[in-house]
This record gives sequence, structure tokens and C-alpha cells, in this order.
Amino acid sequence: SKAQLFDKESQINITFNDVAGLEEAKQEVMEIVDFLKNPKKYTDLGGKIPKGALLVGPPGTGKTLLAKAVAGEAQVPFFSLSGSDFVEMFVGVGASRVRDLFKQAKEKAPCIIFIDEIDAIGRARGKNSVMGGNDERENTLNQLLVEMDGFGTNVGVIILAATNRLDVLDSALLRPGRFDRQVSIDKPDLIGREQIFNVHLKPLKLAEEVDAKKLSAQTPGFAGAEIANVCNEAALIAARKGKSAIDMQDFQDAVDRVIGGLEKKNKIISPEE
Ligand code: ATP
Repeated sequence: SKAQLFDKESQINITFNDVAGLEEAKQEVMEIVDFLKNPKKYTDLGGKIPKGALLVGPPGTGKTLLAKAVAGEAQVPFFSLSGSDFVEMFVGVGASRVRDLFKQAKEKAPCIIFIDEIDAIGRARGKNSVMGGNDERENTLNQLLVEMDGFGTNVGVIILAATNRLDVLDSALLRPGRFDRQVSIDKPDLIGREQIFNVHLKPLKLAEEVDAKKLSAQTPGFAGAEIANVCNEAALIAARKGKSAIDMQDFQDAVDRVIGGLEKKNKIISPEE
């Protein structure tokens, strides 16, 4: 069914308030919100509204969250798909999905199309195709380029895509009129982590002693996704112990558990790297 095809096309109620830190990135995408809300302001002066922007940064740093916040702030529908869905796809399926997605999006404009892990389809063509197994990925990429070129700049569809591998992307994607804008999303620093903790601590029942500043100091190198994880784990640990509020020990245990999980993941990944 169509609903399954594109994951979600929905009115999003996430706003910039849900995205902690990332001030510069928010500033940059605020312009896109304004394009979606007041296109005439730009087109009346002869301006061409950009078609797409790339959100570039390590995993779990809030790229998807920020893209959803753009749709939420502009109050437009959000269509999404992930590049990894196109790996090992039958011939013709990837390209036709892309075609359908753009068709639906144009009908619902103004709207956002979000492509997560665009590197999975957008790797430079030609490389890696020695085994001949990447044809469908190339078809999919070609279809994406065709679609991006095929609609006018003022249709009201803005495509956001996320990647942590800008270096492997096909340069065709980065040409003017395609993803010609880049927004970099970095891992949070000490203050950024504290801000993210504050967002994710808010809905929890906390003991008096729980302190976002201390938690931030104990989690160097953590991205937002890991911080969200720590907060949820801490709640589960406290609940299992029958506590009525989450204390610092629960957070300590949650941090250890999340670090343990990361180490395990790295062990599985490293033989391939
Ligand atoms: P990936 O590259 O792995 O897809 P991503 O950069 O798209 O990751 P998100 O999926 O946006 O990361 O982040 C995962 C979750 O982590 C979010 O849903 C949110 O709960 C939390 N998170 C990440 N960054 C932030 C942030 N800056 N502020 C608040 N929460 C955050």
C-alpha cells in the first residue's frame, strides 16, 4: 500500500523547541521554513527557491529530528524514505518508488521530502559496480536526479537529505539546482549535551539530585540519540527497582549500559571496516 511505501506522510508536530542546541543549523533551515510559508515573498522578486539541502553529520545527531522540525514549523506534510531501503531491491522497484514519491509530494505541495541515508543510493556511480550488483541503486539515483531536475523551483517541494558520508556522494547530487546547500550537524559539546539532557529529562519523574550539567560531564562523545537512550534506560532501571523517582545512580547505570551497547556494536562493525 502507499502508506507503507513512504513510511510516513503526516502532519508533524515537532518544532524547533524539540531540537536542542544546533543553533547554526536551525538558523539555516529557518530560511527553508520561510520559503515554504511565504514563497511569494521570494518569487515576486524573481528569486529561485532552492530545491534541496543536505544535512551532514554523524549518526544520531538530530538530522531526522531537524528535518521533521522544518515540516512542523512550516506546518506542511512530511514524506520520508531511507536510502537503505533501496539496497537489494528488485530491478525497477527503486526507481518507481522515487517516481511515486515525487508524484505524491507534488500533489501535496507545499511539503518536505526527507531522504535519510542518501549515501546508500547516492554513492558515486561507477565505483563499486565491479560485481554488477549495484544497477538498481544506480537506476534509483538516476531517477532521483531526473525528478529533482523535472520540477520547477517554485513547486513548493523542498527535499532534505541526510548523510554522514558527504565524501562518497556522487557529485551530480551536489550540483546547483539539486542539493546545493549543506547544513552541518555536529556532535554536541558539553553545553549542547546539557541542553539535550534538559529536553529528554523534562517528561521524567526525577529525584531532586538529578542534574543535567553533571550528566553532560559524564557523557563525553555522546550524540543526541545516545542521550535520549540514557534517559529512557534510566527510567526503565528505576522502574524495575520499584523506585518512585529516577536518581543519579539509575543514570549512572544507564550510561554504563549505553556505553556497553555502543562497544558491542563497534565490535560487530569493525571486521568490515
Ligand atoms: P541517523 O544518522 O542515525 O539517522 P540522525 O542524525 O537522523 O541519526 P535522529 O534520528 O534525528 O538522528 O536522532 C535520534 C533521536 O535522538 C531523536 O529522535 C531525539 O530523540 C534524539 N536527539 C538527537 N539529537 C537531538 C537534539 N539535538 N535535541 C534533542 N534530541 C535529540
